[in-house]
Amino acid sequence: MAKVLVLNASYEPLNITSWQRAVILVFKGKAERLEHNGKFVYPGCPLPTVIRLRYYVRVPYKEIPLTRRNIFYRDAHTCQYCNYSGDELTLDHVLPRSRGGGESWENLVTACVRCNVSKGNRTPQEAGMVLQGRPHRPHSSLYFEVRRCVTSGTHPEWGKYTIGLER
Ligand SMILES: [Zn+2]
Repeated sequence: MAKVLVLNASYEPLNITSWQRAVILVFKGKAERLEHNGKFVYPGCPLPTVIRLRYYVRVPYKEIPLTRRNIFYRDAHTCQYCNYSGDELTLDHVLPRSRGGGESWENLVTACVRCNVSKGNRTPQEAGMVLQGRPHRPHSSLYFEVRRCVTSGTHPEWGKYTIGLER
């Protein structure tokens, strides 16, 4: 069933909720409806897909687990050296483990098998390879979820509220 993106009063994405809860928030005057998908809960009550709270909510920072899946996701399943996108992806330690490189968002990138093998036990500079960008810790776990819904086409209208949340 349809999900609703909830924005803070500051227009920053806050969370994703069910349409039922979103309708209640709008109905109680706690949120305003920014987008709807042309469907109606009942006549005169459009089904929202994005709402904005009328009051500001403070959110504690939520750590995203450093996992293979999440790193692939951050890198859009694309080799960060040659842009290859496909099934044969691996994780590369930018500074190799044997040379003190750690497990972190800043030191792990998605790499295809070919690039990983040809880089070997060297730094990108030594191997003459260039990273597409500096690897970062993702902004928030909500961003992952929102981007998944935008890229899958479930909620393309959410895209404009996540500009600036990238990475
Ligand atoms: Zn590659």
